[in-house]
Amino acid sequence: MEWIDTHCHIDGEEFDADREAVLERARETGVSKIFVPAIDLASSKRILTLCQQYPDYLYPMVGLHPEEVRADWREQLTAIKQLLPLLREGAGGGSIGEVGLDFYWSREFEQEQLEAFEEQVRWSVETQLPLMIHCRKAQNELVSIIKRYAKELPGGVFHCFTGNEQEARELLQFDRFVLGIGGVLTFKKSHLPEVLPAVVPLDRLVIETDAPYMAPVPMRGQRNEPAYTRYVLQRLAEAYGVTEQVIADRTSANVARVFGVK
Ligand SMILES: [Zn+2]
Repeated sequence: MEWIDTHCHIDGEEFDADREAVLERARETGVSKIFVPAIDLASSKRILTLCQQYPDYLYPMVGLHPEEVRADWREQLTAIKQLLPLLREGAGGGSIGEVGLDFYWSREFEQEQLEAFEEQVRWSVETQLPLMIHCRKAQNELVSIIKRYAKELPGGVFHCFTGNEQEARELLQFDRFVLGIGGVLTFKKSHLPEVLPAVVPLDRLVIETDAPYMAPVPMRGQRNEPAYTRYVLQRLAEAYGVTEQVIADRTSANVARVFGVK
């Protein structure tokens, strides 16, 4: 049985000491591919290099994360945009991310976040590379921007979905997009095991770690790693009342469709 981790910060310093071993455990567990989101210019460059070392296993993204949007955001975007052609040179599977809006901690750069996100949405339209979207406390603003480009966008992932039925429905109106489900699903108080089967069809889900963050139960509180996606897979199978194989196959097919990889 094989499945895909669509969102893993494996380039992070948390993995500097044992990255090779972490990737080996991921392969042994059944993780067949890992998608690696950037957060800024430096990580975009780092990830492109790292992914070249693991062809057909690690797939790069470049982009400016909303929490990294500061006074220098225009310079960051100008430099990151230059990297977009490199995503095309590899075996495919490159994407733009992670991008989006995050007003959870602060609205200090609210206007800048909105502009930076919209510009990166336009990159996706121009290049037809899919989007990895991060959204916290900003769904209304996010939806209104995506609506303007929905017809021309190639699709993507609403990463780390933790919302209610209404919020899920609102995101699923964008029919080339899927919801990224991670460790939160396994938390005791999570409502996702009821919300997802109620409104999210199996062809609209993908699995993610968001490692090193968001470790699922029973690893909660520890450093997360891609192998732990098997706990998310197990919980999804329980919630939907299907076998783990069905979840693995359906989510892998969704990744193939959205990211254009086999
Ligand atoms: Zn992330």
